[in-house]
Amino acid sequence: MIHRRKQRTTSQERSDLFDGLPDDIILSILSRLCSTARCPSDFVNILFTCKRLNRLGLHPLVLSKSGSKTFAIGAKNWSEQAHRFMKRCVAAGSVEACYTLGMIRFYCLQNRGSGASLMAKAAIRSHAQSLYSLAVIQFNGSGGSKNQKDLRAGFALCGRAAYLGHVDAIRELGHCLQDGYGVRRNTAEGRRLLVQASARELASALRAVAPSALHVLKRQLRNKRESNSNSSNLSLLSDFGLNNLNLPSEAHPVNRFLTEWFGLFNPDSGSDTGIRMCSNSGCGRPETRRNEFRRCSACGTVNYCSRACQAQDWKMRHKGECSPVAAAVVDALVMNNLDGGGDGFDDAVVDDRTDEVEGVGGGPSE
Ligand SMILES: [Zn+2]
Ligand SMILES: [Zn+2]
Repeated sequence: MIHRRKQRTTSQERSDLFDGLPDDIILSILSRLCSTARCPSDFVNILFTCKRLNRLGLHPLVLSKSGSKTFAIGAKNWSEQAHRFMKRCVAAGSVEACYTLGMIRFYCLQNRGSGASLMAKAAIRSHAQSLYSLAVIQFNGSGGSKNQKDLRAGFALCGRAAYLGHVDAIRELGHCLQDGYGVRRNTAEGRRLLVQASARELASALRAVAPSALHVLKRQLRNKRESNSNSSNLSLLSDFGLNNLNLPSEAHPVNRFLTEWFGLFNPDSGSDTGIRMCSNSGCGRPETRRNEFRRCSACGTVNYCSRACQAQDWKMRHKGECSPVAAAVVDALVMNNLDGGGDGFDDAVVDDRTDEVEGVGGGPSE
């Protein structure tokens, strides 16, 4: 009896302790949780705990902080309820919600205007992913006709995303400058950006798997730079024996959503008349009109939404699958070290921005 009374008192005290906490403190804890959640259930389960946590959890202050993984639902779990929750987060001012819902509306729900304007809302607030995705849309004229491509706008958006450190944007910008695509040609600057993109990608991968290896790489780079101090040539990472690294970068959750969505709901996938997906497995973007994407000029069997996806997929997968002719050309380039940088693979096969299906096909550009 005494024991039971003691138990009741303890639970009474506990609930008093929670009830006694001011809303501000709980809001700040919930905001932190909402921004760092590793999956939607991390946050959503809290909402079902009690009335108070439900009320405070849906407070605009909390929802405005929501991170990308708070919306990392699978495409098969898409529902009106999920849509409503995202709209609520958009209204609260979450840039991640604007981007995620923007991508879903633009590509999956084919509500192009509303999708693009949501991404623009996040882009204005310097959200790098939104800036880059809008750049891809401008480069391809997505949602419109081939004549609606705006290369200069694409380049400007990409430049802003690159300035914010978005690796794909830096790579895209490098290729644009090398080829004079949407901007005046500047090969040296383009090459510098390509090195920077690879270095950033490598650094973030090393930071994740082997922090000590990063110091070794930094020392190697410093020594290399000192020994090349009189040369104007920039070295690519292959000069350091790093050309065969297969380091996947973590895709944004919405890219996984898109991949899953079009795996489930694209009735035309795989048919000759259908809309094709970007062949880079981490991307998930579909064409918005037939023959929108550029294809590999060597084999013609893969299609990409952007140069960045093409470059990434080449490194990760396609290099081993592309036609033997392309491999032979690339081998010859590497053996003769024609570009002086030693990264002949990417330059030879991946860099063919003008090779769209409507355009002239043909082999490697260099
Ligand atoms: Zn892509
Ligand atoms: Zn190919």
